[in-house]
Amino acid sequence: LFCGLLLTSCSLGDTAGTVNIPSGNGGKDCTRVGVFLPDRTTSDRWEHNDHPLLEAAITKAIPGVHFDYHNANGDSDAQMAQATTGMENGDCILVVAAHDSIAASSIVTLAKEHNIPVIAYDRLIQSPDLNYYISFDNIKVGVLQAQYIVSHYQQYRRGFHTNITMISGSQTDTNALMFSIGAHSVLDPMLAQHTLSIVNEVFTPDWSNATAQTEMEAALADQKDDIQVAYVANDGMATTAIQALDNAGLSGKVLVTGQDATVGGLRNILQGKQNMTVYKPIAKVALSVGDLVKALHDGKDVKNLTHGAITSTYNGGKIPSILDEPVSVDIHNISQTVIKDGYVSKKDLCAGL
Ligand code: BGC
Repeated sequence: LFCGLLLTSCSLGDTAGTVNIPSGNGGKDCTRVGVFLPDRTTSDRWEHNDHPLLEAAITKAIPGVHFDYHNANGDSDAQMAQATTGMENGDCILVVAAHDSIAASSIVTLAKEHNIPVIAYDRLIQSPDLNYYISFDNIKVGVLQAQYIVSHYQQYRRGFHTNITMISGSQTDTNALMFSIGAHSVLDPMLAQHTLSIVNEVFTPDWSNATAQTEMEAALADQKDDIQVAYVANDGMATTAIQALDNAGLSGKVLVTGQDATVGGLRNILQGKQNMTVYKPIAKVALSVGDLVKALHDGKDVKNLTHGAITSTYNGGKIPSILDEPVSVDIHNISQTVIKDGYVSKKDLCAGL
């Protein structure tokens, strides 16, 4: 009886955490691609742009492919579960925009055990086993935001001083750290000359747009409304920060930055409430993903892709990467950039304005 019980509990223990994942064969002949995006609420881009563009690019790259799409809704455990189930169901290449850059390393570990290549999409995954990284030059995003501040703050300064509040993104997203590093690389030399002062900088858990509003309110309360520049990391948070400025009667009087060229952000720019955004041509990186997935499927050299070359590497040269160029957009070049590229339509932009 003792041994019988022992055996039962052993086999229970064995099966509890076991996942049954078929080998991915390094992506060769793969006809089921898992695509995992982080949330629906921190930026319109994920469901509005990335999802349809990735679907179009991947289904065109491999005729008949099953596009196994999931959104983690801001939950790292859910993302892990979605990826695990995807692999159990036969996903043999994964494209992951991590909800959390460190937590998602478990997805890479599990995929590696089964010879399933993982492409970190937009957000880097902090794993030495990661196979590819396709994104934008994220340091440059922060550089563009800060360069805009440096060339336009004079119109907003009060006497001899210009106070900047910095509302950055989530610390668990490597991108948010890179945007901040890029911004500081431009702003810090100016701080040393006391031309500009950063009066406070906060990172915003989970890129929560609602939290960004309370952060802006707190900064205004702290400085008794004496803020001339709000560095805000993306358009979603800029929209709520602008709400806080509006409530204080300051909208249009404070220089506000953003990112993603969302319809909301661009409308804020047209209305004079936000100064700039950073447009990231997602259509192009989605095509790079399509090319890479096809090369893996065909078992071909991944170096010669049609859309975007593998030019850089991460983690000491181990992770082949494609990093596209972000573009600074303000009221003067909306037409020549996002409209011209078809990223947003004039109709969508102007509806309701
Ligand atoms: C993306 C941004 C986005 C933010 C919040 C970042 O990782 O690069 O485009 O605004 O996440 O979703």
